[in-house]
Amino acid sequence: MKPLKEVKKMGMYENVMLQFNRAADLMNLNPSVRKILAIPNTEIVVNFPVKLDNGSVEVFKGYRVQHNNALGPYKGGLRYHETVDIDAARALATWMTWKTSLAGLPYGGGKGGVQINPKLFSNSELERITRRFTYALGDNIGPEHDIPAPDVNTTPQMMAWIADTYMSTKSTNERTKHAHVVTGKPVSAGGLEGRDRATGFGVVIALKEWAKHRNTSLRGKSYILQGFGNVGYWASVFMQKNGAILVGVQDASGSIYNEQGIDPENLHQYMSENRGFIKDYALANALPNEMFFGLNCDIIIPAALGNQITEDNVDTIKASVIAEGANGPTDTSANDILISKNVDIIPDIYCNSGGVIASYFEWLQNRNGEMWTMEEVLEKLETKMKVSFKKILESASKYNTDWRTAAFIEAIARVEQAYLQRGIFP
Ligand code: GLU
Repeated sequence: MKPLKEVKKMGMYENVMLQFNRAADLMNLNPSVRKILAIPNTEIVVNFPVKLDNGSVEVFKGYRVQHNNALGPYKGGLRYHETVDIDAARALATWMTWKTSLAGLPYGGGKGGVQINPKLFSNSELERITRRFTYALGDNIGPEHDIPAPDVNTTPQMMAWIADTYMSTKSTNERTKHAHVVTGKPVSAGGLEGRDRATGFGVVIALKEWAKHRNTSLRGKSYILQGFGNVGYWASVFMQKNGAILVGVQDASGSIYNEQGIDPENLHQYMSENRGFIKDYALANALPNEMFFGLNCDIIIPAALGNQITEDNVDTIKASVIAEGANGPTDTSANDILISKNVDIIPDIYCNSGGVIASYFEWLQNRNGEMWTMEEVLEKLETKMKVSFKKILESASKYNTDWRTAAFIEAIARVEQAYLQRGIFP
């Protein structure tokens, strides 16, 4: 089984900085603010021991990079993946600053994780890894300072362990005030109705806005999906509701294709009974991984890892729009080739922002002791996604630029404004 590897040709941080510099040049960003934003505020690396089920002890490496908090507490997920390193954490934290700013949230950007393949550990080992990592981070996280959330391979259950561990380190009197140290918790442990589907739902709202803008609709459009985790699965559920047809899926176990359409629920059911993999799904044909992005389709949704669409495969692409459910799936050179071919790219900092927007709702709910309904959540989320799309279009036409650069300009301008108004201490 050939695993789906994060292509390390271009460093992820190098990629985000190219995107940043392009926007900073075009908007004529204040030079002092540019210096501040070109580097993360804080980088935390922790090595922590965990007892494994067989009694031996393993030392794990965990990261939390806090890029910027000019607009509010650091916010962003924790991922468990072998590709987690300081470069990835830096890049992902920086994208979070732009994502939360573009969405108009009172947050900065952070990201982190542990460099492991969680499939190699038992549930109780994952619990001990999560709790010990939380303990090692200590007060580097906190409900008004830095608020983690789920990301690749991390689950609501893990968020509940983080909340419990963090709260257990506080005095009895203080404990319950800290539930919003983390978002993406299970609903029964202070989570938000709809947080599970929020990112995938947001990807489809972004595509619906794109369709409206291009005077078309999603009905009858064919699409392929890279990644069938939380984001990919929920995106496919809402794509189906909108009449789009899933014709190809790729995950770490391989690629499958059926031009008649693949039923998301049926595939999801199969996957849950097949150790979380889509390989050997009977109602589709297997396909070599290299051919995946070149499949005949209208829409591509990369919803897995970074640096997946690169110079190596970009020329094979036939779709007319890429909706970036993942963070950083398109590297800068592939991005430019796609733009020159008039392929629309709905940029990650907008396209997958549904997750962090719902995290904000969860944080507010916990802070205010409220209970929001699923309908309220999805409706509010949709409104926010529509506002952001409009901002991107306006900025793209004002600066005569592509949507990614336009989204960056909008996001950077909000942070720039905060610095210019507040000045630099002391
Ligand atoms: N991990 C998600 C992201 O990359 C969600 C972050 C959050 O909810 O804080 O946007």
